[in-house]
Amino acid sequence: MYGGRSLYIRTLVLMLLSIARSEHAVPMEKVKKTNRYGLPHIVRQVNLKAVIRQMRQMEVFSKIDLARELGISTTTMTKLYAQLETDHVIEKSPERDTSFGRPKILYRLAPTLQVGAIVIDVETTTLCFSDLQGELLIRNQISFPTGDHLQNLFARIEKEFTRLREKLEAPCRLLGVCIPGLIEKDSGKSMLNPNLHWLEETCPAKELGERLNCPSILMHEEKALNRAQPKATDDLSDYITIDFSAGVGMSVVANGKYLSGTSGFAGEIGHIVMNPDGKLCGCGNRGCLETLASDLVFHTETGSPMDEALLQLEKGEQRTTEAALKVIEEQAKGIAAVINIFNPKKLFVYSRLAEAYPKYIETLRSKAGKRSLTLSFDRCTIETTRKGKLQGALLLTIDQLIEQATF
Ligand SMILES: [Zn+2]
Repeated sequence: MYGGRSLYIRTLVLMLLSIARSEHAVPMEKVKKTNRYGLPHIVRQVNLKAVIRQMRQMEVFSKIDLARELGISTTTMTKLYAQLETDHVIEKSPERDTSFGRPKILYRLAPTLQVGAIVIDVETTTLCFSDLQGELLIRNQISFPTGDHLQNLFARIEKEFTRLREKLEAPCRLLGVCIPGLIEKDSGKSMLNPNLHWLEETCPAKELGERLNCPSILMHEEKALNRAQPKATDDLSDYITIDFSAGVGMSVVANGKYLSGTSGFAGEIGHIVMNPDGKLCGCGNRGCLETLASDLVFHTETGSPMDEALLQLEKGEQRTTEAALKVIEEQAKGIAAVINIFNPKKLFVYSRLAEAYPKYIETLRSKAGKRSLTLSFDRCTIETTRKGKLQGALLLTIDQLIEQATF
């Protein structure tokens, strides 16, 4: 008797978990019998997420078409629409579908449903808002120097955020705060920040959220860059992004899962020691990959500001080209190691050298090919990143808003 009851509870728990994790809509009619376990509420949340995911792929949609697309009844869909309309998540579109018989009312995601993203980079901080389609509102994007003082930066962010929010005339539902360095995933604390030491021991999303009176989440810059790469049509379950900008960072998706490590510190390829007697790194060690392979190293070597150094590289100036090739050589060593370890299908690389050196990918590929295992290398495509951290930060913020399904 006990065994039977235990098995029943186990089955029920497994069913609840599978529904809660589901990305697909669940017909309410199939689960009515388990009402007393609160199942319909979970199903409603799952359905809400499925509906919004689907809406993001369609510009306008009718109740019937969306219900058919997701395989749920129009009665369930009518209830979900009512909730979404009350919460100002969707609104009636001025367009009408007149293709068959009586014109159908079409809906769209409310353009007033906004999320924000703040990307705090070593040199520049960028702030912008977007609707749930992930359309960046360029006219509402602003960049300013990050500086080297925490409270000054937060005061500037507060000023610009307030100004932009007033212009939008819409609340920001969730704000994604994107930073470099090692972030402890449970506490949301910046633990080590080799290039922005003054951010260490702070919880930037929590502090900014309170200051701006807006729910906020913290994210790692490499995770944001990684999120921005796949297209909707891509079937990518094993891909890696490597960022050679100011520091050197990596993010890995393996078997469809993002690797964060036990504490959230995974991917710090920039601090692999290449030469123990090399230059001092921001992490305290010497000769890390970051001290040899970043864009920062390139423009320091040339002795010119970055834009000027890139211009010289574009013109084929010999000393600048040599400096670029030296950096690419080190980047290739890092890439070869990554290909050997993870056997990815695709590797996205970000480096500003690609802007000015037309043979960048070709050279990188040739150098990395000589240092990696042929079997793994031949099955991996290397290309430059398609979109930047800002787009990725917005997408991660939208993902989280939909995941919470609390509009
Ligand atoms: Zn280091």
